[in-house]
Amino acid sequence: MADSAPAATAPDTGNTTGGVEIVGVTKRYGDSIAVDNLSLSIQPGEFLSLLGPSGCGKTTTLRMIAGFEHPDSGDISISGRSVLGLPPYKREVNTVFQAYALFPHMSVAENVAYGLQQRGVPKAEQRQRVAEALDMVQLRRFADRKPTMLSGGQQQRIALSRALINRPSVLLLDEPLAALDRQLREEMQVELKLLQARLGTTFVFVTHDQGEALSMSDRIAVMRAGRIEQLDGPEQIYAAPASAYVASFIGQQNFVQGTVAAGGAAIDTDLGVIAGPWGGERVSPGGSAVAAIRPEFIRLESAGSTANGADARVLSVSYLGETLQVVVGAGEQTLLVRTPAPTAPSVRVDDDVRCVWSPDDVRLFATDGAPLASTHVITLPDRSGT
Ligand code: ATP
Repeated sequence: MADSAPAATAPDTGNTTGGVEIVGVTKRYGDSIAVDNLSLSIQPGEFLSLLGPSGCGKTTTLRMIAGFEHPDSGDISISGRSVLGLPPYKREVNTVFQAYALFPHMSVAENVAYGLQQRGVPKAEQRQRVAEALDMVQLRRFADRKPTMLSGGQQQRIALSRALINRPSVLLLDEPLAALDRQLREEMQVELKLLQARLGTTFVFVTHDQGEALSMSDRIAVMRAGRIEQLDGPEQIYAAPASAYVASFIGQQNFVQGTVAAGGAAIDTDLGVIAGPWGGERVSPGGSAVAAIRPEFIRLESAGSTANGADARVLSVSYLGETLQVVVGAGEQTLLVRTPAPTAPSVRVDDDVRCVWSPDDVRLFATDGAPLASTHVITLPDRSGT
């Protein structure tokens, strides 16, 4: 039977144009290691995101592919050829930055043509290529306007068009949507993905926004301290995180701390015994571990139910449109529960309920014993009556 999950890798066409190979690359700044013996093979035509918190080495990796930084050791190849000795302008790559850096006194067309003009490309060819590049981002009708007369999203599309005018094999994007407001950012995510699919250009996209990475990427490299913690398709990264770190970084999680029970297939916690498969390396009985349960995998049943889960009391109920978000207190812990609003049970603050989950939806992870904060931010309602 065909697997319905998206492929974790872009199809291997046997063509190396646009492929990027990073082999054992390390980059230090003084005593600190920004990128630590990192290896990564990016397929031609793939949309790959480097995702991770600030300081994990995403931008440094991107800048080394671009040629703005140089590895202390290791090798980087683009389209099957090592680029280590090549300056940025001789690599088949172009970069789009968060700041669009457009010239305000020039028209949209002049901005896009700037690089061609600097290289002395004949005027007629410039006009044709600018028109093509603006068509790629559907901005030809604004060719004669000044960038300041356009929205933030349109300005970023000009920057994109300027980066694509030479049809680079690889486009590097360093948080290009970070300056846009949420709605525009979501629109641009769709546009970028469509553009990339149409052009077949390899996109390497740096972001710390997990939603952005999930929605656009063929594969995501989740980075931590200069290394790749997990490299997989979005679905695998979300549904089968390889470590508590990845589980906490992608989507929302309830973490329940515990100690591995005899037999190793469950942990003893304040909420009772929680069983489930291990998400990463197993820990021996007696060791510290955490159970991760996503909010959408918890169901609320009436108090008195004996189904697998924990007794709890409702602390807050929020209607979010498509979903109902309920925060419950269970023992010393709060749990976030999300259910589709149309089928949500009717619950009120202070109701006693049973949180129910299937062990199949739990993942156990090793921890170093330090408490792992659940990744939902909960502001409990002020119930002091003041
Ligand atoms: P951000 O999302 O904040 O840009 P990042 O994941 O892209 O973070 P990098 O910018 O690659 O991370 O930085 C990785 C590490 O290298 C950080 O500790 C950073 O302080 C350090 N670093 C980066 N550039 C330099 C530099 N030019 N000089 C010294 N240290 C640097």
